[in-house]
Amino acid sequence: MYNCPHCGASSISKMDKFFLGPASKMQCKKCGKEIGVAKSSYIFVVILVLMALFVVKWFDSSVVQIAFISCLTVLAVVIQLQVVPLEKR
Ligand SMILES: [Zn+2]
Repeated sequence: MYNCPHCGASSISKMDKFFLGPASKMQCKKCGKEIGVAKSSYIFVVILVLMALFVVKWFDSSVVQIAFISCLTVLAVVIQLQVVPLEKR
């Protein structure tokens, strides 16, 4: 669980945070105020998409492509859950 940036209650589940993007927001279950993730999470998304495109373009083997894209997907989830900070909206 993650703490609400407004009231400090641990009201945000991993699943809630996973589906939070820079353009989306949710309400704290305790205080009802709106929570989002930092705009900087866009940068991670752009980098990962570029890396995925690079892999698809430069590796002909679909096994390598699938392996790399699986790694990038796992990395994107880890970044979203562990690195990107929650902020007030
Ligand atoms: Zn709250």
